[in-house]
Amino acid sequence: MDNYYPSRHTKVIQFPLGRGEESQMRIKCTECHSKAIISSRNELDPKVADLYCMCANPECGASFVMKLSYSHTLSPSRSQAHSMAVELLRGLPAAEQLDLLQQARAAG
Ligand SMILES: [Zn+2]
Repeated sequence: MDNYYPSRHTKVIQFPLGRGEESQMRIKCTECHSKAIISSRNELDPKVADLYCMCANPECGASFVMKLSYSHTLSPSRSQAHSMAVELLRGLPAAEQLDLLQQARAAG
């Protein structure tokens, strides 16, 4: 992802992005490597969007589309962790559920 920084150097860009947050994302022109501006965004799916970009270098003026996509989760959302825990507990006998609950409380 050479044309697409600063995710490697500075901060993680969260997805999906809210309005105005794209201005924090830096895109480099694929032709001249100058700064490019995101002019619009077409959301194809909650995890995939086309970003319409224009090179800010007046001597270049290239326009192109970059694809923004979700890659992977670093930590699950709290609601996801909660439902996973409930599903796991449901698969166990009541005595083991209580035992696990006590272990979890003791560990915390
Ligand atoms: Zn350019």
